[in-house]
This record gives sequence, structure tokens and C-alpha cells, in this order.
Amino acid sequence: MTATEALQDKYAASVMLTYGVPPVVLASGRGSTVRDVDGNTYLDLVAGIAVSSLGHAHPALVAAVSEQAARIAHTSNLYINERQVELAVRLIRLLGADARVFFTNSGAEANEAAFKLVRRAQGADRPVLVAAEHGFHGRTMGALSVTGKNSIRDPFRPFGADVRFVPYGDESALAQAVGPDCAAVFLEPCLGEGGVVPAPAGYLKAARYACDEAGALLVIDEVQSGIGRTGEWFAHQREGIVPDVLTLAKGLGGGLPIGACIGIGRYGSALSKGDHGSTFGGNPVACAAALAVIDTIEKDGLLANVTAVGARLAAGIEAIGHPLVTEVRGSGLWLGIVLARPAAAAVEAAALRAGFLVNAVQPDVIRLAPPLVLTAAEADSFVAALPGILEAVSAVLTDGREA
Ligand SMILES: *Cc1c(COP(=O)(O)O)cnc(C)c1O
Repeated sequence: MTATEALQDKYAASVMLTYGVPPVVLASGRGSTVRDVDGNTYLDLVAGIAVSSLGHAHPALVAAVSEQAARIAHTSNLYINERQVELAVRLIRLLGADARVFFTNSGAEANEAAFKLVRRAQGADRPVLVAAEHGFHGRTMGALSVTGKNSIRDPFRPFGADVRFVPYGDESALAQAVGPDCAAVFLEPCLGEGGVVPAPAGYLKAARYACDEAGALLVIDEVQSGIGRTGEWFAHQREGIVPDVLTLAKGLGGGLPIGACIGIGRYGSALSKGDHGSTFGGNPVACAAALAVIDTIEKDGLLANVTAVGARLAAGIEAIGHPLVTEVRGSGLWLGIVLARPAAAAVEAAALRAGFLVNAVQPDVIRLAPPLVLTAAEADSFVAALPGILEAVSAVLTDGREA
């Protein structure tokens, strides 16, 4: 029995099986490479779901976290900690707007805070929220209520929110849905869990306009897209809009759990003393990690790296011209490889056997969301291996066996 199999057995007996039993036990990593407990190495093109922005064991992140843990690891929010204030100031500066930050420990909690902010700002006369079909905002009850995937949402009805879902990217459907009963619109700038589906050009602008017309708040969920993933600090900046509320998490902490709900303009003051709280939110170790992530992205010019290596990766995959691949979409180091058939799970498994971690985010879509430090040579190594991976899957498919 391998070390992996032994741990899988223990896992299956002791951990709730909400994730099934995963195929790999990761033990360590360096840069964009990870190692499992049996000594196999993989190029990590998932980054813990767009989280490990600096890759693994980055010296700046290790130093920041170790130094902070050695000084003071937790204060609660009964007391101020320096790192939290520094991080709030940095985020506001990156956003370039007048704003205030509430820190959380996850993306779902960032959206819960946004939800409460919206309720507080809009009151009970506007009970409706508008959100996108196939959108994803998290798994807690409030965040789940605006998540537009029935299979994960329906078993947990009823929710405390009245949510109107619209097809993502359809400007007129959105305009029609946002009326005087609507408190806010929750949108991702590009569907992440939905399969890396960028909003059509102009969609966020149309959403901003519809919200302004109806007096609704625009909540932009950048939990997955934010902090450099698309080659910009925030994906919505490319569209030239300013949301009322912005939520962040995943890549912000580079692997440490932290999220943020940012209220912009007067919505920075919509929640007042006693309205919301978190014991761990804005924890100094997590904030130190986020500061190291932002510093390193700036110092090492990682936004330019994301744009260049992402474009090279997308072009390389497209140039293979394999019949199983119909499209490569997304921007920066955040790509969806769209397949001609629902064979994503088989591609993920074949990639794993070839030494690459990729993610079957939808039955017919492979998501790549590697560390922002991915090099051109690492991207090329995946492009070189991909024909073999796709061929292995195609051979099984044409065999008539189930992939
Ligand atoms: C992952 C994700 C969330 C939820 O974040 P958690 O940290 O898993 O709670 C919310 N919104 C988007 C867009 C996400 O990708």
C-alpha cells in the first residue's frame, strides 16, 4: 500500500466526504511545483483554486508569516493590529477609490458581509437580489442563496433572500430584472466556478447603469478574479466601472485564509458599530501574508508576468489544434479549456498521470489557475505535454469506453 492509499483510507473513515476522497496527498511545494507523500512531483496549474498566488513556500510569504507569528499571532478585533490597518490602506490605494474594508476569513464570509451591508443600506423595502445563473458566491446560506447553480443550492432551500437569477452576460435580461424592489446585483466579472466565462465587453458597464437607474447597489465578487489573476489588480478595472461593494479572498492571502468586503464611497460607512463582526477576520498573520503577496506582485512585476505567460499559455494550447479542444477562454493566468465532449474529468486524470495538476471545473471545461509566478518554461512544458494527454483521453473515448 502506498502512503497515498494509507492516508486515503484514514481520510475516508474520519473526514466528512463532502469532497469525496481526493486522488493526491500533497506534502510540500516550491514555486509552481508540488510533491505528494509518495515523492511524485507535479506542475501545479490549480494553485489551490487560484489561491497560492506566489506559488508554494515563497520566501517573502514564509518570512512575513513567521515573523508575524513570532511577534503576535492573534489579537481579535477588540484591539487594533498594525498589519490589518496596513493592508486596508494598501487595498484602498490599489482600488484608487474612497473606501473602507471589513476583513473576513473566506470568500463566502466576504459575500455574507456584502449581503448584510446591502440590507443595512437598502432596508426591507427592497427585498430582492439579482444574481447570475451559473454564478458562484460561496457555500454559506447567504452566499449560497445568490449562487446560481441549482444542484448545490436547491437541497438547502429555503433561504432568507429573494433572489432573481438572470442569464450571465445578457444586458437586457439584467436591466429588466433590476427594478425598484431590487436592493443589489451580485456579479462576478468572469464566472470562475461556472467554467471561466468572461463577461462580454460592456456587460459590467450595463450592470452599473441598470443599478444606477434602479437605485440598486452593484456588488462585484472578485474572490477568484482579484489580486492579479487576470493581469490587473482587479478584473473590473478593465471595464472602467466602480462597484459599490467589492469582495476578495482566494489569491489575497497567497494560501493563508483571508477575505475582504470593501464598501466604496458612502457604502464604506453602511455598516456601523455592532452591525457585523468576526473573531478571526483581519488576523495579523493572514494580513501579513496578504501584504507579502501585494509587495511581491509589485516588486517582481507579476502583473506583467501574468499577462505575458497567460497569453503564451493560451496561444500554445490553441495552436495544438486538437479536435477535443473547441476553445480557450479567459485572460491572464486564468483559462478555461473548453472541450468538445464532457471529458474534463478524464483529462484531469490523464494530466495527473503526466505530472500536471489541472481542474475539471465543469464536465466539459478544464480550468487553469496557476501561481502568478508561473514561468514561460513551465507553461511551455504543459503545452508540450498536452497533445499526449488529450490523445490518451481521445483513445479511450473513440474506444467507446466511458471516459
Ligand atoms: C471561491 C469563491 C467564493 C467562495 O469562497 P470561499 O473562500 O470558498 O468561501 C465566492 N465567490 C467566488 C467568485 C469564488 O470563486
